[in-house]
Amino acid sequence: LEPAYQFMIRVRLPGGVCSPAQWLKLDELARAHGGETLRITTRQTFQFHWVLKDSLRPIIQGLHDTLLDTVAACGDDSRGVMCTVDPQSSQFHADVAAMAKRVSDHVIPKTRAYHEIWYGDERVASSEPEEPFYGRTYMPRKFKIGFALPPSNDIDVYTQDLGFIAIGGPGGLEGFNVVIGGGMGRTDQAPETYPRLASLVGFVPVDRVIACADAVMAVQRDYGDRKDRLRARFKYTIDDKGLDWIKACIEERMGTHFDEARPFEFASNGDSYGWNSTPDGRHHRTVFIRSGRLDLKLLDAFRDIARIHRGTFRMTPNQNVIIAGVRTDDRAAIDALLAEYGLGAENVSPFRRNAISCVAFPTCGLAMAESERYLPALMENVEEILDRHGLADEPITLRMSGCPNGCSRPYIAEIGLTGRAPGKYNLYLGGGFHGERLNRMIRENINVGEILEVLDETLGRYAREREPGERFGDFTVRAGIVRAVTEGRLFNE
Ligand code: SF4
Repeated sequence: LEPAYQFMIRVRLPGGVCSPAQWLKLDELARAHGGETLRITTRQTFQFHWVLKDSLRPIIQGLHDTLLDTVAACGDDSRGVMCTVDPQSSQFHADVAAMAKRVSDHVIPKTRAYHEIWYGDERVASSEPEEPFYGRTYMPRKFKIGFALPPSNDIDVYTQDLGFIAIGGPGGLEGFNVVIGGGMGRTDQAPETYPRLASLVGFVPVDRVIACADAVMAVQRDYGDRKDRLRARFKYTIDDKGLDWIKACIEERMGTHFDEARPFEFASNGDSYGWNSTPDGRHHRTVFIRSGRLDLKLLDAFRDIARIHRGTFRMTPNQNVIIAGVRTDDRAAIDALLAEYGLGAENVSPFRRNAISCVAFPTCGLAMAESERYLPALMENVEEILDRHGLADEPITLRMSGCPNGCSRPYIAEIGLTGRAPGKYNLYLGGGFHGERLNRMIRENINVGEILEVLDETLGRYAREREPGERFGDFTVRAGIVRAVTEGRLFNE
């Protein structure tokens, strides 16, 4: 006998897009081997939980049958590449999504070992170097890339190691502003670790995107800290070496300078719910999924939808699903299925729509406190406070993580919570509504009663003292409740 270890399997899904056939396969595998549940992650992909050892191969081979895999979904390499999902403008969005896919294919490891282990491919002797880019030692730690399409910052581009912000012109996509060095993770009781927002370094035209990704990753591969794993992310390399020095290194490897950054503006990092239409005559319906959890009822609903849908499904970074590319004559049938299963965002408060939680207990081995399982109860308590202060219709971002790693990107939320111990959390206030400013810890290691007390008091002040149109996070800074965090290094001060 050996212990009944259970595993998590994360799928590689560049830009969060899958076909109905792929959805049906994921559904089948989750029912057979994944505890009859799937989870949509904050990086636009699926996780299987509760996977026992003898189910690993059937799942990975099942994914392969439908052209999906798990390559680089974990590990010290480039993780799944994110991309804005909401197709505000069909061709422009399609061009950006295609670039995200190209970059994803380019940066994943080229090893054949994955195929040998999981698909049973025969080992082929080769004198080729094992990895043309990663070598034998890969990256110092994980490396995250994302593509944003203003005005939507749904991917939270400032939290990526390498972010591309799409810039269009009269002829379509012209290139990208480049931001580097974002990251949320920190370690408990380690003040030398901190979240950092990515820095804008310039603009690259479309034909230099791959060279830029290569150059940025190579700088981190060669100069990142390989001795202290806590400080092995790119954000610390940048702060230790200096942004100007890092930028010059990137330019040298790219063989050219960055152009001056182009103007852009973000207006939201949430999802637009309900139906939207694009100039190509297709329709897109965003469906709210609480904490990205697809339980058996939701699996049933989306299985029925996948059987008739002729477009794609898109996982949003806010853990929702867009039924995308729907033809006009299919809308009624999809609406009927959504109504049959009681799905949609119509009855979900603005506060709930802007809440994200990581998975935490019982399936994340790093969890220090509850997150996904506790979020609904916390929401009810906070909604009661919001109601009492006349703020029920006010969108406010809340993000909860079960440990300081911050998988739900809590350090840019207007209200952030990270677990310290069962029932205990650090509370952060003052993040920007669009993910443009870090928050700051206001209380450490407090229980839920204390969290609600602080929120009652600050939300009450917000209701009474706010200026027209002022966001809660901005208010807490203006009112002096928290000092604005202007850069990551100052987060712990
Ligand atoms: Fe696990 Fe921590 Fe990430 Fe939550 S934030 S999923 S507890 S590692």
